[in-house]
Amino acid sequence: MSQSQVWHPFTQHALEPAIPEIVRTEGAYLCKADGTRILDAISSWWVVTHGHRHPRIVKAIETTAASLDQIIFAGFTHEPAERLAKALVGLAPAGLDRVFYSDSGSTAVEVALKMALGYFRNIDAPRSRIVVMEHSYHGDTIGTMSVGARGVFNAAYEPLLFEVDTIPFPAAGREQETLDRFEAVSRDRRAAALIVEPLVLGAGGMLMYPAWVVAELKKIAEASGTLLIADEVMTGWGRTGTMFACEQASISPDILCTSKGLTGGVIPLAATLATDAIFQAHYSQDRRKTFFHSSSYTANPIACAAALANVEIWRDEPVAERVADLSAKQAAGLRRFRDNPFFSDSRATGTIAALDLRTGSAGYLAEIGPQLRAFFLERGLLVRPLGNVLYLLPPYCITGDELDGLYDAIEEAGERFGAKP
Ligand SMILES: *Cc1c(COP(=O)(O)O)cnc(C)c1O
Repeated sequence: MSQSQVWHPFTQHALEPAIPEIVRTEGAYLCKADGTRILDAISSWWVVTHGHRHPRIVKAIETTAASLDQIIFAGFTHEPAERLAKALVGLAPAGLDRVFYSDSGSTAVEVALKMALGYFRNIDAPRSRIVVMEHSYHGDTIGTMSVGARGVFNAAYEPLLFEVDTIPFPAAGREQETLDRFEAVSRDRRAAALIVEPLVLGAGGMLMYPAWVVAELKKIAEASGTLLIADEVMTGWGRTGTMFACEQASISPDILCTSKGLTGGVIPLAATLATDAIFQAHYSQDRRKTFFHSSSYTANPIACAAALANVEIWRDEPVAERVADLSAKQAAGLRRFRDNPFFSDSRATGTIAALDLRTGSAGYLAEIGPQLRAFFLERGLLVRPLGNVLYLLPPYCITGDELDGLYDAIEEAGERFGAKP
C-alpha cells in the first residue's frame, strides 16, 4: 500500500508496517482479499454492537436509500428522524425529551456544550465554565479536546484549548476526593456543566468507577444548578450491561450524548438528548435565543433508518440476554488473570474487560503498543491496547470459543512482553 495517498487516523505512517486492506466484514470478523479473517475484538473502535453488517440494518439502509437521501433539516423533517426521536426518548433515562441530531461523537459533545452555555445565557444567568473528569476523552475537535485529558495527543493544539476545571478520577477508595472537588468547583455557580463518561472512561485506559459516584455527582450538580452532561458515546447501547450506563446510577442527566452504537456501528449518526427545560430556554419569540448549530448531514435519513433498525433489533432479538451472557463470559475470562504476575488491575463493567500489562514503560507512544498490536494481528486478532492497557470490547455476537482464544493470546502476550513486579 506504499502508493496509497490516504492519511490514516492516529497513525504514524513512518513507523506503521503495511496497512491491511479489508474487503468484507461479517459478524465479528474483518476479511482480507486472500480470505484471511481477523477477529474484531474492539468492535472497530467501539462502534459495532450486534456484529458487522447486521442484515436488518443493511436492509433498512437499502430500503430507505430507494426513497430518501440527505435533505436539509432546518425547516424540513422526515419520518425516520421523527420515529427515531420518539424511540430514543423512550429508551433514554426519563426526562430527556428533546433530540438534536448530528453525525459523530465529537459533534454530539460539541452540541451538548453549546446547549449548556446557551441555556444559561438564555435564562439570563450566564455561566461558561465546564467541569471535567481527569483522564476523560470526549473527542478530537478543538472543543472536545478542551474538555478531555491533555497529553501528547493534543500538545500541539494546546494553545487553542479552553480552560476547564478538573475533578480527580474517582479511583477505588478515593471517590470522596472527586465529590469534594466537584462540590468546591461548583459552589461559586460559574460552572455551566459537568461532563462525564459514566462508569467507564474509554480512551483514558478503560478506567472504571462505580455507579454510586455518578449518582452523587448528579446530586452535587443539582444542588448548585450545574448541568450534568453524560457522554455515553462509548458506554451506550449495552456496552456497560444496560442500555445506557446512567441507568445503573438511577439518574437522568440533563444532556446525554450518543453515537457509536446508535446505528449498530454501521453508518455515522449521533444524537444529543436534552431535557425540556434546556429546549424551553431556547424557545422564544426572540430569534437570538435560537440554538445555532447544524451539520450538513444532520439527521441523514438513511442513517436514521439504520438507527431505527438497531432499535428494532433491541426490541425483537434477545440482545439484553446476549449482553448479559457476554458480560458473564468477560468476568470469567478475567478470573484467569487473578494470579498472573504479568498483569494487574483486571476489571470489567458489562461487556468491557480490561487489564494492565506490567511493563517498564507505559504511555501510548511506548513501543510496546505497536508490538502488541502486531503480536495479536499475527494471530488473526484485532486488539489495540491503550498504552499498556489490554482490553476486549467485542461485538455481542462473539462466541465463547472466540473469547477463549482471545484470552489465550492475552496470556501469551503477558509472557512475551510483560515484566513481573
Ligand atoms: C469515541 C468517543 C467520542 C468521539 O466520538 P467520534 O465519533 O470519534 O467523534 C466522544 N466521547 C467518547 C466517550 C468516545 O468514546
